Amino acid sequence: MHLSRFFMPVLRETPKEAEIVSHQLMLRAGMIKQSAAGIYSWLPMGLKVLQKIADIVREEQNRAGAIEVLMPTIQSADLWRESGRYEAYGKEMLRIEDRHEREILFGPTAEEVITAIVRDSIRSYRDLPKNLYNIQWKFRDEVRPRFGVMRGREFLMKDAYSFDLTPEDARRAYNRMFVAYLRTFARLGLQVVPMKADTGPIGGDLSHEFIILAETGESQVFCHKDLIDGAIPRADTDFNGDLSPIFEAWTSKYAATEEMHDAAKFAAEVPQDKQVSARGIEVGHIFYFGTKYSAPMGCKVQGPDGQMITLQMGSYGIGVSRLVGGIIEASHDEAGIIWPASVAPFEVGLVNLKAGDAATDAAVATLEVKLENAGLEVLVDDTDERAGGKFATMDLIGLPYQVIVGPKGVKTGEAEVKCRRTGVRETMPFDQAVDRVVAAIADDKHVD
Ligand code: ATP
Ligand code: MG
Repeated sequence: MHLSRFFMPVLRETPKEAEIVSHQLMLRAGMIKQSAAGIYSWLPMGLKVLQKIADIVREEQNRAGAIEVLMPTIQSADLWRESGRYEAYGKEMLRIEDRHEREILFGPTAEEVITAIVRDSIRSYRDLPKNLYNIQWKFRDEVRPRFGVMRGREFLMKDAYSFDLTPEDARRAYNRMFVAYLRTFARLGLQVVPMKADTGPIGGDLSHEFIILAETGESQVFCHKDLIDGAIPRADTDFNGDLSPIFEAWTSKYAATEEMHDAAKFAAEVPQDKQVSARGIEVGHIFYFGTKYSAPMGCKVQGPDGQMITLQMGSYGIGVSRLVGGIIEASHDEAGIIWPASVAPFEVGLVNLKAGDAATDAAVATLEVKLENAGLEVLVDDTDERAGGKFATMDLIGLPYQVIVGPKGVKTGEAEVKCRRTGVRETMPFDQAVDRVVAAIADDKHVD
């Protein structure tokens, strides 16, 4: 992609309305544009990141055996009356009336929709277990939408729902999602800690929130320090096998959200030098809630002995659009964003320091082809802005590597390679620059 033809409306000034750094940087890097309070358009740079996050979430859901569906954004009020949640949900639900004066709503979550699907299509215990998920826009009329996409009103969520015959099977489904989440967040370049959580309006008795530790987090969290750098399950983990050892290893040490925090237990269980009390950003939340929806909605199947059995359910959310901001909160500096390679909108920024100079243009074109042939996405700055401005823009948008080419280097056949994260710059021959960047990106993306 050539910057002169792309659409990336960067801002030089920090917008006053943005309180936290991720919101400021997303606006400055031309990733989003606010359309109404808590409602955003995703511009190309933002959309690319959003899609890459969604792809990683999808891959790990599939690996764990979940199956993708797509449910509607608009749901019927009658469905919510079946579960008893229509009145209970309160003002966060956007309620709408259609032309026939039927009550509908913009879904804030989809337990009712999926429970009706499974109820009407699964008859026998032989068809279990099932875990169905979708990546779909949700709407919650938050009292205080703020922090850009971190607390929007319209936001993209991955929500999965498990259906099992017994509580033991449901626990296995819970563990599969728990492990899938650890892998998902590691691949997004994040250190995330699963913490004991309150179940809130979703209900149930077993729940974990997955938390990024960051100063701008909206809640206070408490955990054992060792969990911050805990072991990530490998890609070849057998999701049909027993995952409870991984679950136990992660949950044997203290970690709790503010609502579940027990100060006396924390003091007794965690040595003082290992006690972490910090602000946290919730990026995922998983629940086991048994028959809370399946019982009132009549979601049951025929069991092995012919008797009808009400299904055990869990639900599993990831804030896909919140993650865009969350990753920036965890990874930036004074100059701008520092994207982990796995979600970067482009992997390399190729800077032409003298666009219009035939020799420089030719060298840049050759490098572009070589990088792209190696499978990298390249953003070429072919504009006629001054060098200082180009460097500032590249640092702001945070691509993992920059390859800088000017007339001087063209004479000696050399380019400068800059690593955005470390700031280290090194001059080397063109081919070596390509090899260096290709290897570094592969290394950055690697999670066992
Ligand atoms: P919060 O406590 O932050 O309001 P929640 O507990 O209501 O979130 P869940 O129902 O658990 O949220 O939704 C699953 C995930 O969706 C959350 O972990 C979060 O990442 C994301 N999410 C929830 N509300 C929003 C929002 N208003 N904007 C962006 N993402 C959101
Ligand atoms: Mg939650």
